[in-house]
Amino acid sequence: MSEFPVSPSVSVPIHPPHCVVGVIGGGQLGRMIALAARRMGIHTAIWTGGLEAPAVEVADEVIDLPFSDPKALDHFCAVATVATVEFENIPRSTLEAVAERLPLHPSPAAVAICQNREREKTFLRENGIPCAWFQVVSNPDELAAAMAELGGPGVLKTADFGYDGSGQIKLQGHEDAVEIWKTFNSPRGVLEGWVPFEKEISVMAARGADGEIVTYDPAENRHRSHILDVSIVPARIPQEVADHAAAIVRKIIEALDYRGLLGVEFFLTADGSLLVNEIAPRPHNSGHHTLDACATSQFEQQLRAVIGLPAGSPRLLSPVVMLNLLGDLWPEETTPPDWTPLFEDREASLHLYGKRHASLRRKMGHANFLGETSAAALARAEALKAHWLAAAAHRKQP
Ligand code: AMP
Repeated sequence: MSEFPVSPSVSVPIHPPHCVVGVIGGGQLGRMIALAARRMGIHTAIWTGGLEAPAVEVADEVIDLPFSDPKALDHFCAVATVATVEFENIPRSTLEAVAERLPLHPSPAAVAICQNREREKTFLRENGIPCAWFQVVSNPDELAAAMAELGGPGVLKTADFGYDGSGQIKLQGHEDAVEIWKTFNSPRGVLEGWVPFEKEISVMAARGADGEIVTYDPAENRHRSHILDVSIVPARIPQEVADHAAAIVRKIIEALDYRGLLGVEFFLTADGSLLVNEIAPRPHNSGHHTLDACATSQFEQQLRAVIGLPAGSPRLLSPVVMLNLLGDLWPEETTPPDWTPLFEDREASLHLYGKRHASLRRKMGHANFLGETSAAALARAEALKAHWLAAAAHRKQP
């Protein structure tokens, strides 16, 4: 049983030190929430779901059992005073069971919308929030009809979330729907129109108990093999596009009746239109720069929103580039890159997730590069990435 203070019936803000934030999920996002909590004198209990969990090294209490285990639920609800999630693929029944016993932010209903592409797209459409054309399909005939209606290139995605481009088939529009359906390994899909975007951007935002919404400056995101590679902040977009993105995010937060931290990914097209691609009900990879370049990090912001403190300032203190450190930079599976040049760059900081095995596509950590301009920071980040990739070139690239 926990050595930490427990207050089972809580209706008002729960400030440190009488606060144990229960985090459902134990990945690197949970780890960074727990690290922010430690700094703020807040305890954390991490429920791993039985999955590999980088967060356990820094948590105060660990429940290393599946989400379906009733003993784990009892334990979690006994030790935590308030709860949150660090990833969205948690069974809704688990979220609802927690919410019956503890304040859980964001709500199970909001997480359920964000954990399934069909529900998410339908929510966007019903609330008049711009997103790519889409149609839900559950057999080859429906796929053929949807492809005919789309009449051009698209992408077939699983209705349940994959991640980082998994479970997606790019279509030109003239393929045989029966053949495509055979290779599509899912009972239900969403056919989306292909968006010829100019840029991808994302906006992190939070709403706390008092209802105030704060939004961070948009990040401009570039991908490598479908995985986020760099986030450039401030994004190189007109101010009115940034303002429009923030307004859309506010609308989403209000429509979801949301409390907590949330990230929204957008496509930006050549004519300046913004289309929502995805909503993450948690901290997001494209918000990692906030650790070093903003007045309040996204992880502290999540804690503040969840325990009832006022939101911290999201102000950007410096241009910054976040570089994801994927496993393909590791010269051997258990040998990290030589970090010396990063430490010699006096405005870069290294964040590692404590993962021992570096498979090629695995997110092992990230580095934030501050700079006078984001272009200067980007040049340094790209040079170091090229250096590490060259040193690990004998490994197969993802
Ligand atoms: P997702 O897993 O849906 O976030 O998609 C991963 C990446 O695939 C996105 O970040 C885009 O780069 C690309 N992508 C996904 N959907 C589309 C689309 N409808 N049009 C163009 N690119 C897309």
